[in-house]
Amino acid sequence: MSKVFVRVAVDQPMHVLFDYRYTLDTPPSAGMLVQVPFGRREVVGLICEVTSATDLLASKLRDVRALCDGLAPVSETWIALAGFAAEYYQRGLGEVALPALPQALRDPSRWNRLLAIEPRYRLLDAERESLHESLPIRAIALRRLADALVEQPSLALSDARALHPKAAATLDDWSARGWIELAVPDNIPLLPSQATAHAALPVLTDEQRDAVDAITNVQGFAPFLLHGVTGSGKTEVYLHALAALLAAKPDAQALVLVPEINLTPQFEAAFRARFSALAKGSIVTMHSGLAEGERARNWLAAHTGAVRIVLGTRLAILASMPRLAAIVVDEEHDPAYKQQEGLRYSARDLAIYRAKQLDIPVVLGSATPSLESWWQAEQGRYTRLTLARRAIAEAALPSVRLIDLEEERRRGRASVDGLSGPLIAALKSRLERGEQSLVFLNRRGYAPILSCDACGWVAGCPRCSAYAVLHKPERTLRCHHCGWESRIPKSCPDCSNIDIAPMGRGTQRVEETLASVVPGARVLRIDADSTRRKGSAQVLFSDVHAGEVDILVGTQMIAKGHDFRHVTLVGVLNADTALFSHDFRASERLFAQLTQVSGRAGRAGLPGEVMIQTRYPRHALYQALSRQDYVGFANSTLAERRDARLPPFVYQAMLRAEGRTLEAALAFLAEVAAAFASLPGADRVMVYDAVPLTIVKVFNVHRAQLLLESGSRAALQTALRAWQPLLRAQRGVLRWNVEVDPLDV
Ligand code: ADP
Ligand code: ZN
Ligand code: ZN
Repeated sequence: MSKVFVRVAVDQPMHVLFDYRYTLDTPPSAGMLVQVPFGRREVVGLICEVTSATDLLASKLRDVRALCDGLAPVSETWIALAGFAAEYYQRGLGEVALPALPQALRDPSRWNRLLAIEPRYRLLDAERESLHESLPIRAIALRRLADALVEQPSLALSDARALHPKAAATLDDWSARGWIELAVPDNIPLLPSQATAHAALPVLTDEQRDAVDAITNVQGFAPFLLHGVTGSGKTEVYLHALAALLAAKPDAQALVLVPEINLTPQFEAAFRARFSALAKGSIVTMHSGLAEGERARNWLAAHTGAVRIVLGTRLAILASMPRLAAIVVDEEHDPAYKQQEGLRYSARDLAIYRAKQLDIPVVLGSATPSLESWWQAEQGRYTRLTLARRAIAEAALPSVRLIDLEEERRRGRASVDGLSGPLIAALKSRLERGEQSLVFLNRRGYAPILSCDACGWVAGCPRCSAYAVLHKPERTLRCHHCGWESRIPKSCPDCSNIDIAPMGRGTQRVEETLASVVPGARVLRIDADSTRRKGSAQVLFSDVHAGEVDILVGTQMIAKGHDFRHVTLVGVLNADTALFSHDFRASERLFAQLTQVSGRAGRAGLPGEVMIQTRYPRHALYQALSRQDYVGFANSTLAERRDARLPPFVYQAMLRAEGRTLEAALAFLAEVAAAFASLPGADRVMVYDAVPLTIVKVFNVHRAQLLLESGSRAALQTALRAWQPLLRAQRGVLRWNVEVDPLDV
């Protein structure tokens, strides 16, 4: 018998595959999981290649210990996707592929129990003859297997094994010849269009119809940018387009990505109502909030093809979906699509790659597309679809009013603890009319600063270079960077002055102020503090929907895609700080955030009003916002970026280092920056000076970063790859990481 070797990816920071000798009975194939010895441990790895030769001395190789043969292999295209992500984001293949699997699959002792959902095979009627003719006369076991396939609508792998010892390989062979196929459980693949034909679906607007037609009429790879104002009914476009695509191909699958599932239960509910009323289990969710068992079950259901739709957060982009036929990325501009640790990938960018790889359509939807995507559309690489009007005829876009705080002050019109006169009056009138208001500010806690007037002491975190935030209901000072907490001091620790006072305001303080300036209003605060317990956000939001709240105050948590029916006023506080950030993307983010939160007003027919308190009412960003002019804002910001040679006109990567001292971190960066210069491709890459991060110390660790930039993505990639061994060889820092296409610079 000829020798068999396998090349295996394991979850290690190494860019190589490891060779093992394979002596088990079941033939291996690429995409299967194995248990292998690695150093002194046993780990689970992914077979990427099966070969009869190895460059290494075969006798030195160790043996594969076990094969997870109940699990159908992940596809070659899936391995290629993980390979691309690893390559692009400067990681090892195993570091991408294995963490993308459910935890339970990475534990061999749980394989059997987990794989209770096993693959089933079905004979294609037309191929019955071909199958029988292929069987040698005396091949009794093979005949038994073939007969079972004829007799049963579908045959489970374990039953097949009882009939033939090499059933898995045989079934694979027969699938490859097109005689049999993986069967999808009977109750699941109902066609959405059939069942929903009876339900009362909204009649699409002309704009929605055009968008749906464009998406469903294409063949092959087709990226769409669905630019639809808030309330224009983008969800309905996704639902209709997917229903049509899934109906056209009876076992096709679709992947729908959202930035945050828990904050937008309505979106999930809409999908479930539309697709899963038909058949239990035709849609599953995938996100980090799921219990481990459920995550594994959902992953397997997608992997075996049993579910038609996966609705998930960024991690779902790496779900194994053998018949994936369309991808939707809702709110594609949202920074949540960028993973900020480990593999620092952009799920949106991988969605484009995956769609191209599979030759399928992908729809990126947003009211405020990222400038990267907008630029692609401007160049004609993505097809732009526009929904310029709200879907509900009576629901106009809200009017935006800028309240000039300087002017208010000059005219001697008092604001009460940060709330201007006009905003308070507007809140009161909404209360009288029984309508809801929403007050948005992006800062939680009571006050960001607690300080002493007499000596200038400011409460800070002992472990971070940051102020400690005052939390009044919890009666603590808290660090928002490391979680440090302490009691609020009664007097100044430096000079004993008892007049220490909070400066600035967060959501807790606004909540308190609102209760006193709008008497009788039922005020509810929603932020990370008020929703700490699992499920509490849902409860609070349902109170808002039930009309039990008059004024909702909160952080960006309240800005996401909620369809609040009775909100007619949105007030925005403290937005100005983002105007002067050193991060060139800050204004893009602010525009998106304010558009998003403004979009909560006036969705159900009553006219909506947005009031933005600012000291810079003439700022171009606010002017564009008050004209609801995303296109103007996007084009002028792109022109600025082009002049300044910033993304998307150049490509960036960031090396971040963490050291026990700032000097250590900076010295590391300086050293590797010097070594960078001699790498291939480096002559086309600009290396900036290493700088400390804005908040340089977090949890006693000092942080610095080095920005790299190039007009050529390929040159940057080549140089980064060549840099890896140098980086790994360096000592002197606690940690470092490379981020490609960083969002925060
Ligand atoms: P977006 O995501 O674009 O902000 P949504 O998808 O939340 O907008 O839709 C806004 C509202 O309009 C929802 O209440 C939705 O049910 C409703 N809607 C969408 N399309 C239609 C339509 N064609 N006719 C009537 N109502 C619609
Ligand atoms: Zn003092
Ligand atoms: Zn801290």
